[in-house]
Amino acid sequence: MTNQRSAAPARLALKGDLLDFTAAPQWARVDDPAVRLRPDHWLLIEHGRIVGAQADDPGDGWAREDHAGRLILPGFVDTHVHSPQLDVIASYGAELLDWLETYTFPAEGRYADPEVARVGAGRFLDALLAHGTTSAVVYPTVHKVSADALFDAAAERGMRLITGKVLMDRHAPDGLRDDVVQAERDCLDLIARHHGRERLAYAVTVRFAPTSTPEQLAMAGALCRADASLYMQTHVAENRGEVEWVAKLFPDARSYLDVYDRVGLLHPRAVLAHGIWLDDTDRRVLARTGAHLAHCPSSNLFLGSGLFDWPGALAAGVRVSAASDVGGGTSLSTQRTLADGYKVQSLNGQRMTAWSGLHAATLGAAQALGLERELGHFGAATLADVCVWDWAVGPVAEGRMALTRDAHERAFAWMTLSDERNLVASYVAGALRYRRP
Ligand SMILES: [Zn+2]
Repeated sequence: MTNQRSAAPARLALKGDLLDFTAAPQWARVDDPAVRLRPDHWLLIEHGRIVGAQADDPGDGWAREDHAGRLILPGFVDTHVHSPQLDVIASYGAELLDWLETYTFPAEGRYADPEVARVGAGRFLDALLAHGTTSAVVYPTVHKVSADALFDAAAERGMRLITGKVLMDRHAPDGLRDDVVQAERDCLDLIARHHGRERLAYAVTVRFAPTSTPEQLAMAGALCRADASLYMQTHVAENRGEVEWVAKLFPDARSYLDVYDRVGLLHPRAVLAHGIWLDDTDRRVLARTGAHLAHCPSSNLFLGSGLFDWPGALAAGVRVSAASDVGGGTSLSTQRTLADGYKVQSLNGQRMTAWSGLHAATLGAAQALGLERELGHFGAATLADVCVWDWAVGPVAEGRMALTRDAHERAFAWMTLSDERNLVASYVAGALRYRRP
């Protein structure tokens, strides 16, 4: 593994089967024209930016890496993941609320220590890169130092990272609560130092409605209204017990989502994880405000939270990205996340194509975050966040791949059978950040 700040070569060409999207594929359509598959092509990268793709060898003026017979994808975007929860991934026997109390809060408490935060941030981002994820929207902890550490570690690696100190001023143990005044001060300081620096952006980070007082939610909404370039991230309607709790805590709100809407937290840069237990009015509110849902199927299955109605969200005009939600989710691997996404839709009587899944983790996520001019596809002038994958690792996958009959079968088998062991290399803005040992 490499995480040294190696510079991108001036002219780099990567050969393989280039797969990306030019638009959103239609739900359940396997022969979709939005899929752009260019087998055995060279992806051309100059000074870290994609400048084109061609079948012909670009010649001696380029540093060439021939990965013929391999898959080349835009780096994945994980739109909802918790860095300190790597330490509690795969914890047994709980639903959301007792899982938070038993496992998550004790793990997050350790991040008050700047050294723990620094080491944890580096380890977390290197793990993302070793899973083919080059950009992420991340929860650190309530501690300002944990956000600082993530921003600095992402800047060192040249990564697009959206994060912010977690806001929680109630219903959390000692050492994990802030207060409105200090939290606002910390947010403003972090925004001043990191928002817009290199590829970093600040997200006003409300853990979820139960852990913030109405006063803190109002403060968070005011931050968003004062600067439309800020992101916002939170959780919504993940689990039924949680939804009932929110109804008790906010009796005046029409719904869980409405708690956020009434204070101004829903806007085009808002990322809401889960959104399983929403109604039609909620979906109309999401469509109207431009806030988007990060669907976390692995986490939803693991914690028994529920089955997300993906086509229902799309039909209502709500944008949806895919996310790991580690440590509720059980892997940083986007393929494992998407394979679980397929199973969730199966239980709903739906079929999710590989195209819908892969789009939601690349171009779809980039568009939902307003970053489609920077990443998520192989269009000219985007930064070269690119990953090279083996189509198959091991005899079972090799055997299955050999029998696939068309592009969708192949992509679907890959999505279902592959994981981080298939990853050959990750590039961030054209610089090599991971290579399989
Ligand atoms: Zn989460």
